[in-house]
Amino acid sequence: MSDILILNGRVVDPASGVDAARDVLLRDGRVAAVELPGALKGVAAAETIDAAGMVVAPGFVDVHVHLREPGQTYKETIASGTAAAAAGGFTTVVAMPNTVPVNDSVARLEWMLDAARESVVKLFAMPAATVGSMGGELTDFAALRKAGAVGFTDDGKPVLEDHVMRAALVVAARLGVPVSQHAEDTRLTGGCSMNAGPVAFRLGLRGMTVEAEARIVERDIRLLREIEKAEGLRPHLHVQHVSTARAISLIREARAQGLHVTCEVAPHHFTLTDEAIGDYDTHAKMNPPLRAEADRVAMIAGLMDGTVDCIATDHAPHAAHEKEQEFERAPNGITGLETALGLALRVLHKGQGMPLTRVMQLMSAAPAAIVSLEGRGALTVGSFADVVVFDAAAEWVYDVAKTRSKSRNSPFGGAGMLGRVMATVGEGRVVYRG
Ligand SMILES: [Zn+2]
Repeated sequence: MSDILILNGRVVDPASGVDAARDVLLRDGRVAAVELPGALKGVAAAETIDAAGMVVAPGFVDVHVHLREPGQTYKETIASGTAAAAAGGFTTVVAMPNTVPVNDSVARLEWMLDAARESVVKLFAMPAATVGSMGGELTDFAALRKAGAVGFTDDGKPVLEDHVMRAALVVAARLGVPVSQHAEDTRLTGGCSMNAGPVAFRLGLRGMTVEAEARIVERDIRLLREIEKAEGLRPHLHVQHVSTARAISLIREARAQGLHVTCEVAPHHFTLTDEAIGDYDTHAKMNPPLRAEADRVAMIAGLMDGTVDCIATDHAPHAAHEKEQEFERAPNGITGLETALGLALRVLHKGQGMPLTRVMQLMSAAPAAIVSLEGRGALTVGSFADVVVFDAAAEWVYDVAKTRSKSRNSPFGGAGMLGRVMATVGEGRVVYRG
């Protein structure tokens, strides 16, 4: 692994509070120096990246991606999905367990994390919370944790039974990891394919209500309170892809009471509403669904005031033939790794005036903290040499035909983006060049 110098850039590192002109030296896969401009003159490096006019930030961390391997490699592989991650500036991703078969055992987790899968960036995984993600028996949290699990989730499905979720939170708390919950009371959403509201009415589709999300968030928060009281533990609930104003306010309240609740918002939920479905466009179909404008505004408010901890893409590739079906039959999900930065800067930074350092925090330091990743999400000496270099002023149009992902199911093809990745360095290797 050779040395890399990144010169003349503006370092924005929320973890150390730096937002200033700095030169950076990467050596042996770690950050070796972050110095005033010119201070590294004379240092020999195999590679030099001229970052004049660019932002130099910690590589992004995505705690919610679907890489489809094993079992559905026609949609995505670990290699193709992580190549898309690198193109989007991500240097660390956390894979969800709803592969085929479900990642619910040490053998499967180890297979997924094996170098033979050829991940382009650092790969972590959250195995299933219950066997087969069936919502019944817990998986072996302790053994999975030892094998590298950074949390547990049945993403795609919620853990519905109170006693099962309670047990999951207790065991995970003892291991110091979160339980990530897909908050959807599926007893209320059977047969629903979008948000409930006027658009669903116009399209003649059954809609998911706000209550379906709120009820699970409410129940999980109640469980946290009960466990703290009864067991003296401090369980960590992470609410995935929050989409409703109601859920945001429940989470805000719980945090004010000191409970350990974190949450993520996906770029599509702060960018689009259910109007984007237009005339049954399946590229605007995902779960949780696109919501009403008041919900979108609430996502932004939560991102601005700190209620929302991080941005996560919920990158969910599907083959073209799967999305080219009638709306109700098409699978949920969109790709998201290559458009996250462009949307965050356009909507949050330019549109709402969110400081660049806060955007970077939402995409690096904060998600790294949720899953307790040592040495990631920061550009401090000794951290992993995970770096993204991007032009924060570049306006461009996303061409989904040029994606690194195997799938093209994005509603953002042809959409305007702000901020373009010029280089991504993962553990000291250049993994993407723009
Ligand atoms: Zn989900």
